[in-house]
Amino acid sequence: MHVCQSDEEFKAVLTRLKWMTCPHCKRAGYLIRHGYLRGFDDRHPRKKTVRAQRVYCSNRSRADGCGRTFNIWWADKVGRLFLTAQSLWAFLKKAVDTGNKRQAFRDLDCDLSDSAPYRIWRRFLKARSAIRTALIGLAKPPPCASDQPGAQTLAHLQAAMPDHLSPIAAFQAKLHAFFL
Ligand SMILES: [Zn+2]
Repeated sequence: MHVCQSDEEFKAVLTRLKWMTCPHCKRAGYLIRHGYLRGFDDRHPRKKTVRAQRVYCSNRSRADGCGRTFNIWWADKVGRLFLTAQSLWAFLKKAVDTGNKRQAFRDLDCDLSDSAPYRIWRRFLKARSAIRTALIGLAKPPPCASDQPGAQTLAHLQAAMPDHLSPIAAFQAKLHAFFL
């Protein structure tokens, strides 16, 4: 997968598509646009927005690609998650700072069930060691006084991503991977 942090970057990637190598078969010259992945998120709960551009490695009409697809994502969308990267950050940060996941989630004001904060929190805890491994290469973990689970990971993330994007979107754009 590839993650774009802006529309400009997305446009630039599209113009390079013809010469880009396929992440599956590593051949260049056969990638074509293949529709969008659309969906709801907490900031657009009633209208689907574009989450990713699907790209197809063409094996049709004498093209020599592998026939597989991959996605170019926007940095603020997280796969299999209703929250945007920005809302996910707001939730996790507040949950760690206050120790109150339920309230931190309520403050997002999105209409997910009461079990959602716990489900998302568990997903974060499960992803933690992978996140830490990714961050170690980018910045030293800063000192962290809080003993809340997750506090060290979020502090490390913030230290590694001094950026104009929200830290989770920045993580995704930098590493071309989902945060969790
Ligand atoms: Zn291919």
